Amino acid sequence: MLKEIKILADHGKQYVPDLRNQPVSALFRGRPVISADITAALAGRAAALCPAGAIDGNSGAIDLGRCSFCNECALAMPEVYRFTNDYRIAATRKEDLVIKLGQADPVRIDETAVRKEIRRLFRQSLKLRQVSAGGDNSCEMELGATGNVNFDMGRYGIEFVASPRHADGIVITGPVSENMSRALEICYEATPAPRLIILVGTDAISGGLFAGSPAIKRNFIENHHIDLYIPGNPAHPLTFINGLMDLLGKKQ
Ligand code: SF4
Repeated sequence: MLKEIKILADHGKQYVPDLRNQPVSALFRGRPVISADITAALAGRAAALCPAGAIDGNSGAIDLGRCSFCNECALAMPEVYRFTNDYRIAATRKEDLVIKLGQADPVRIDETAVRKEIRRLFRQSLKLRQVSAGGDNSCEMELGATGNVNFDMGRYGIEFVASPRHADGIVITGPVSENMSRALEICYEATPAPRLIILVGTDAISGGLFAGSPAIKRNFIENHHIDLYIPGNPAHPLTFINGLMDLLGKKQ
């Protein structure tokens, strides 16, 4: 019995009571901040060193939909780039994922871009089917963590389900490999309308390091309305949960 009590004491409190304001490690790389004083020469240098093509060579802006959060830019040019540990970086519009020079504002969803039926139908209960479309299991593991004892996303009525017929939307990870392209379509068609499409992670949003590869086929992403973009490489469970809560209009 004493052994069990000691284990409990060692573990401490794991449950996250306030998912909206949970402090995370200072080492976590979330929303970047870019100096307003960057010159065109520095922007070009930063773009050249970025392995993901996420930095605009003219302005120096970072596209979170492409960024792999490798930290190379901040290490090479700390006077220009740094990463905060702000994990609330989900957006309803892809263009809002672009962090501009001197931008101090956090990334937030655009309320006007949220389809009205989403909040009316799914605010109290949202079931999601996850599709790993050529993913590497990193975002998938983080999505699995959203339901664990720490984050307990189910407390808000948001859960993953096994069947698309039971789901209100699909959550896509991975760059969408050619082999998964048709399977993704089939899963979407099996989900009853109105249905959400949520992209999680850099690979799903832009193809990531695989962008332009003949092994990926992104027709589905390009031909459908995307309700929510959740950046990260992989995306943090708190980024996913907060993005969904913002989309659904949940305060707490
Ligand atoms: S952290 Fe992002 S923007 Fe910076 S070099 Fe890496 S991929 Fe590029």
